[in-house]
Amino acid sequence: MTKCKAPQAPAAYRSHDHEHCVANALLRADAVCAARGARLTPLRRRVLEIVWDSHRPIGAYAVLDILAASSEGRVAPSTVYRALEFLLEHRLVHRLESLNAYLGCPDPESRHGPQFLICRTCGNAAELHDGAVAQALASDAAQLGFAVDRLTVEASGLCPSCRAGEAPA
Ligand SMILES: [Zn+2]
Ligand SMILES: [Zn+2]
Ligand SMILES: [Zn+2]
Repeated sequence: MTKCKAPQAPAAYRSHDHEHCVANALLRADAVCAARGARLTPLRRRVLEIVWDSHRPIGAYAVLDILAASSEGRVAPSTVYRALEFLLEHRLVHRLESLNAYLGCPDPESRHGPQFLICRTCGNAAELHDGAVAQALASDAAQLGFAVDRLTVEASGLCPSCRAGEAPA
């Protein structure tokens, strides 16, 4: 009997207990910041929680709107941008260039150059960590004498749920 080796779809593309994703992300953020001596202030933590509200990348102004509608009240855009900068710096979130939006990182402890799959129908995004992608490009670039220091790979398409005509959770 052969085992099916198909990888499980990322959480973003199947129904799952998303509260678990959020709780896990916040716990890991607390641990990562404590280990690095960085201060995860209540506002930074709240912004991270808002980014993790779903697997859809969210823009800074949408974060501002959610804050304004909740107990935090109105916050200056620069404050939210600074909080997002902090989260980026500590790799708790990624910035998706093509959407100018942010996505929570499920693996903040590791240094990685992720690739993103972005569903054009439901908007959910998942990250992949395929070192071969970056290596292939870096070696092609090196042959041209070009040193790559930042690589952005964002693929758009249809996630398994949308391909099956179901709305993902
Ligand atoms: Zn989730
Ligand atoms: Zn990541
Ligand atoms: Zn989709």
